[in-house]
Amino acid sequence: MSVNQFIIKGLLKDKVKTLENLACAKRKYSKIYKIACPSNVRLLKAYHELLLKKRISPSKTLELVLKTRPVRSLSGVVNVSVLTKPYPCPGSCLYCPNEPGIPKSYLSGEPAVERAKKLKYDPYLQVKRRLEMLESEGHNTEKIELRIVGGTWSFYPKNYQKKFIKKCFDACNDAGKKRKADFKDLPASQKKNEKAKHRIVRLSIETRPDFIDEKEIKKLRLFGVTKVELGVQSLYDDILKINKRGHPVSSTITATRLLKDAGFKVSYQMMLNLLGASPKRDIEMFKSLFLNQAFQPDSLKIYPCALVKEAPLYQWYLDRKYQPYSAEELINAVVEIKKIVPPYTRIERVIRDISSKTIVDGPAKISNLRQIVEKKMESKGVKCQCIRCREIKSDYNPKEKIFLFRYDYPSSEGREIFLSFENKSREKIFSLLRLRVPSFYYDKSQKPFLKILENAGLIREMHTYGAVTSISGKKISAQHKGLGQKLIKKAEEICKKEFKVKKLAAISSVGAREYFRKSGFKLKDLYMVKPL
Ligand code: SF4
Ligand SMILES: [Zn+2]
Repeated sequence: MSVNQFIIKGLLKDKVKTLENLACAKRKYSKIYKIACPSNVRLLKAYHELLLKKRISPSKTLELVLKTRPVRSLSGVVNVSVLTKPYPCPGSCLYCPNEPGIPKSYLSGEPAVERAKKLKYDPYLQVKRRLEMLESEGHNTEKIELRIVGGTWSFYPKNYQKKFIKKCFDACNDAGKKRKADFKDLPASQKKNEKAKHRIVRLSIETRPDFIDEKEIKKLRLFGVTKVELGVQSLYDDILKINKRGHPVSSTITATRLLKDAGFKVSYQMMLNLLGASPKRDIEMFKSLFLNQAFQPDSLKIYPCALVKEAPLYQWYLDRKYQPYSAEELINAVVEIKKIVPPYTRIERVIRDISSKTIVDGPAKISNLRQIVEKKMESKGVKCQCIRCREIKSDYNPKEKIFLFRYDYPSSEGREIFLSFENKSREKIFSLLRLRVPSFYYDKSQKPFLKILENAGLIREMHTYGAVTSISGKKISAQHKGLGQKLIKKAEEICKKEFKVKKLAAISSVGAREYFRKSGFKLKDLYMVKPL
């Protein structure tokens, strides 16, 4: 038996149940065997070897604990990020790093960049390797959120975009086979993915607000995109201008409305501490972001401006015309923002994954900012209400009572109805559905630019949280408990009774189409549609 196999036997004997138990036991055995702490991947491999030789009985508990970073699949979907090749961007933002051989706005040393660089930015290989890695760590890879990142997606040539997306679908369809799939074209690859082993249930791209128009949206739909991350950065025209962002706030307002009216999920990337900003103005900006109906993104990434040598802003810093906030100023600003976030928004990140060595100066060096902010909020007795902080993780108790909540708010000249299943205290969220009554429903002089959406209520997002996993053969997940179907029923009822629209249209990613078919939806013009 190998050392790792001995350790597995020890872990089973010690009845390791939690991550803390595991960390403790790993330290103990590495001392006993005089080896470096073994990785969870290696231990999981040894566990499977022993199982195969029938030297141990299966232990779902240990298996679960050995998943290296279980947090990745806790929302029931694994994230796979794919980087596009280095390509020019029409922008010349002051804070944006421009490193040769690296996609604009990214830096060598960032984990995703290093992985992509090694694979020459080949999308097929990037997806394939990532899936293999996640599987070796013990994650369920049936449902995938594919995130296409790197530069401004909308600026890449259409042919490159098409091939890129097709290769991502091919990699997911090619379950376990060595050869590359050679499906004729993108629609064929997408069709195949509807029933593939790895289904793309969400697909996002990142782009600039001024690149979003009706034509671009139609193209994004053809590609199967369901979520758009807009590089908004600031809601002040003077700050956008001085930072050479190249578009005004009005571009963000238009893009947000067009995207929401086409059923897309809208995410904003926002920056704190830009040239010309102050903590006070930053906090005011977020008040407007959450309260002004022209904005209200569904999710949010907050990136404190990272001062790096590769960006033109560095010269401003050397000339003493730019000074990063102090750590305290930044922490306080993020606390204030988190205090006012509405319950239908998800704060995905509060800091970027850049090595602190690359950052010249400033609080963007604090890589555990989220944890520091959480501690500070705890000490003040306040909680962040965002979805991410409330979505259920592995602490799911199937006996806990859950309730249906409804929250209506005007948004981008239409109306959003946020439906969710939560526990009584609303500290845990199990499932959510974003229903939209589009702006053209209220302004009859406007025709929708996508004919299929005429007279329709839109399902922009439907999601149930909880790890897709089982312990001792029992499902512990909130998924598959019919919560999603119940939310769809409720959305139908609202559309029929309150708005008297003729149909319900869900944006649905390719890999989620089967799910909607089970609820009576049919694929029509790239949306899943149900007549009411
Ligand atoms: S638009 Fe984005 S990628 Fe282009 S320069 Fe600005 S920050 Fe960089
Ligand atoms: Zn939160």
